[in-house]
Amino acid sequence: MRRRVSDPAIRVSVVSLGCPRNLVDSEVLVGKLAGGPFALQASARGADVVVINTCGFIDAARAESIDVICEMLALKAQGDVKGVVVAGCMVARYGRALARELPDVDAFLDISDYGDAPGLFRTIRARVPGEGSPARAAAGTPFFGGGRPRDARTDLTRARLTLPHTAYLRVSEGCDRRCSFCAIPQIRGRQRSRPLPVLVAEAENLAASGVKELCLVAEETTAYGRDLGTGGRLGLAQLLSALGGIDGLRWIRLLYAHPGSFRPELVAEIRDNDKVVKYVDMPIQHGDDEILKRMKRGTPAAMIRRLVADLRREVPGITLRTTVLVGFPGETERRFENLLALLEEMRFERLGCFTFSREEDTAAHALRQRPAARVAARRRGRVLALERRVIAERNAALVGRTIPVLIDRAAGGEAIGRGEGDAPDIDCSVRVRGAGLKAGTIVQVRVTGARGYDLEGKVQSSAGARR
Ligand code: SF4
Repeated sequence: MRRRVSDPAIRVSVVSLGCPRNLVDSEVLVGKLAGGPFALQASARGADVVVINTCGFIDAARAESIDVICEMLALKAQGDVKGVVVAGCMVARYGRALARELPDVDAFLDISDYGDAPGLFRTIRARVPGEGSPARAAAGTPFFGGGRPRDARTDLTRARLTLPHTAYLRVSEGCDRRCSFCAIPQIRGRQRSRPLPVLVAEAENLAASGVKELCLVAEETTAYGRDLGTGGRLGLAQLLSALGGIDGLRWIRLLYAHPGSFRPELVAEIRDNDKVVKYVDMPIQHGDDEILKRMKRGTPAAMIRRLVADLRREVPGITLRTTVLVGFPGETERRFENLLALLEEMRFERLGCFTFSREEDTAAHALRQRPAARVAARRRGRVLALERRVIAERNAALVGRTIPVLIDRAAGGEAIGRGEGDAPDIDCSVRVRGAGLKAGTIVQVRVTGARGYDLEGKVQSSAGARR
């Protein structure tokens, strides 16, 4: 579709890559356009400005970001897009080096300065065809921005890019840990928790706009409040309790927990707070003590086992999701078997598995004895095979049971939804048969079977199908 230059609105398309935390940043960026002559569009074709909010924490993520940038630059060369703006973690991490590699990109927006986006997009739109990048010209360098840095802690403006009934709430930014394989602290800085009243106000706004499910995200959600100087009186448990009092919210979901900052009162809050779904996403990264030590995780396998046992005892039926990393330097076959043994024992209902990516500026970058890529890939395959077995057994055990399901999409007597054990975009789903199903409602579904990772079921009652 050729760009309609006569269209008064500045047409903007945003490609948000990486994790939900990056998606929240994309939402903040789009929120900056509110009230201006901007029109958001899903497709890049025909846009005046395409923004690629990049992810830069491992090889695969960077490769995907570069592929998308090149795709958009090709559209620009064809005249289907006027300007290409790169934002996000790759800008924060590689800044000027990235600009040198990508001379056709119009501008780069750092994570902290979206405040200038409206002005920048107007400048790009106003450019005369064939003229060079005014943004580059204006800034004298490929960078634009650095005006009014966004204070992530108090900034509430954002436009949502998720389904209307589900939203992410970023409770803090940055991380104080130094896991040896991870570059995120270099990209996002030290932990800065957002004040509780600000988070409650944002959650109230979201609930008022129709959000039913609120997913809490951060680099380390369980460390929430540690930097707010309350001597430990304010933490994630207190935040969950406050959010539990908000009308309209039905499900509050905990993502990016860390076993090393999981306090006992948090276990009790998950158990006792009806709105907190019985689900925890808690990356453990490995199960062998020597590897966990080399990863600087600070969580020996015994601690992980104890915490999982506490959660399963205190919160019956809880769904535990984790993430592990294979192929880390020093991961011998025996140490890998220790990981497998822990996973076999813990039986995490949901699991993601990555292979080690050697990241510059991280402590693990210099480590030797890295297993060959094919060995890491084979090990990842074994972990995922184990997980398929765990999910198949769990799904079989759910057949005949009735579970609450949040409907994400519905059409013609069929719907796709998620149970309490399924976070958006990363977990499994439930195919529901039934008449009059509506997105954003929670219905009772009798599980009739499973297809691969997903469950199938029939709506029992829309009792509880309150909007
Ligand atoms: S907890 Fe570790 S892996 Fe997670 S963001 Fe912080 S340094 Fe990275």
